[in-house]
Amino acid sequence: MERIVVLPGDGIGPEVTVEAQRVLAAAASRHGLELEFEDELIGGASIDAHGTPLRDEVVDLCRKSRAVLLGAVGGPKWDDMPVDTRPERGLLRIRKELGLFANLRPAAVFSALTGASSLRPEIVDGIDLLVVRELTGGLYFGEPRGRALVEGQREARNTMVYDEHEIERVARVAFESAGRRRRHLTHVHKANVLEVSQLWVEVVEEVARDFPDVELAHQLVDSCAMLLVREPKRFDVLVTSNLFGDILSDEAAMITGSLGMLPSASLGEGGIGLYEPVHGSAPDLVGRDAANPLAAIGSAAMLLEHSLDAPEPARAIRDAVAAVLAAGHRTADLVLEGETRDVVGCTAMADLVLDNLGLDERDGRS
Ligand code: NAD
Repeated sequence: MERIVVLPGDGIGPEVTVEAQRVLAAAASRHGLELEFEDELIGGASIDAHGTPLRDEVVDLCRKSRAVLLGAVGGPKWDDMPVDTRPERGLLRIRKELGLFANLRPAAVFSALTGASSLRPEIVDGIDLLVVRELTGGLYFGEPRGRALVEGQREARNTMVYDEHEIERVARVAFESAGRRRRHLTHVHKANVLEVSQLWVEVVEEVARDFPDVELAHQLVDSCAMLLVREPKRFDVLVTSNLFGDILSDEAAMITGSLGMLPSASLGEGGIGLYEPVHGSAPDLVGRDAANPLAAIGSAAMLLEHSLDAPEPARAIRDAVAAVLAAGHRTADLVLEGETRDVVGCTAMADLVLDNLGLDERDGRS
C-alpha cells in the first residue's frame, strides 16, 4: 500500500484534484497497485482552518508519504494578507521542506489540439518534450545578493552559483527521464560566457558515462530559445539551470497552447515527488464545474511514472486523454474561436477519461 498525500488547496484546486485522484486510483488499481490517500489542507484553506498556510503536521505527513498530489493555492480572499503569511507561502514551504531540486515540465501536444497553439499545426503536431529545471540553486538563491548605495548610485547584485553535487543530481534525473523516453538529452547552457555553465558541461558529461544509451547534446540557451519555436520536435528531454529553465519551460509550455493541459512534477533527494498542474486556482471558474482537470490528471500520470515506477498505468492515462480529445470532447478552455462543440464540465471530462481507461467503476467521487 503506497501512501499519497493529497493537498487540494484553493479555488479550482479541489475540483481538479478530486478528479485526478479518481483517475489515479482507478488506473493504479487496474495495474495491481493499491494506493492510500490522505487529504490535508494547504494555502488559503489552511489559513482559514488553522491560521497558517501549512502546518508542521502536514509537512511530516508528506515526508512519510510516497508522493504528494497538489491542486493550487491562493485567491482574492487572501490577497491583502502580508506576503509572508499568504497562501503561496505554504507552497514555497512544502517545496523547500521536501528538498525538491528537479522540476519536470512536459510539453506535449495532443494531435486533436494542434489548433490551440500559436504556431503552425505542422510545426506543433507531434511535439513531446520534457524540460528538467534545477529548482533550488543558481541565480535565484545565490549569495551575495541585495541592493546597496555605492558612491551615490543604486546598485543591485545576484550571484549564480552551483556546486557539482547540485548539477549531478539534477543531471541524473534528466538522464533517467530520457532513458524512459526517446533517449535524447539536450543540456542547455551559456558556456561561451559563464564559468557556471562550463562546470555544468563538465559535470553533465561525467554523469553521461553512466547512461551510455542516452545521446547527449549541448545547446546554447539563446539558440535553444529559437529552436523551440522553429523546430520543437527535435527535442526530447532538456536539462538546465534554474534561471534558464524558468524561461524555457514557460516558452515550451505555451507552444502547446493551453494552461489547462500542463502537468508538472518536482522531485527531491529523499525520493518524494510533488505533482501539480502548472495553472493556478482560477478564481473565475470556481464552483462552476468549468475547470479543465486534464493538467491535474496529467500530473497524476507523472506521479505513477516517477514516484511509483509504474509507466504502464501512466501511459494508459495519457492514451485515454488522447482518445477523449480525439473523439471531440472539450472543456470550455479548449474550444477554439469559431468552433462549435458540446462543452463538457470538469467531472464529465474525468468520467470520459475513466471510460477510456476501460473502467466501469466511477469510484472515489465525493
Ligand atoms: P490561473 O492559472 O489561476 O488562471 C489564469 C487563467 O487561466 C484564468 O483565466 C483561468 O480561468 C484559466 N485557467 C487556469 N486553470 C484552468 C483550468 N484548469 N481550466 C480552465 N481554465 C483554467 O492564474 P492567475 O489568474 O494569475 O492566478 C489566480 C490565483 O492562483 C492567484 O491567487 C495566484 O496567486 C494563484 N496561483 C497559484 C499557482 C499555484 O498554486 N501553483 C500558480 C499560479 C497562480
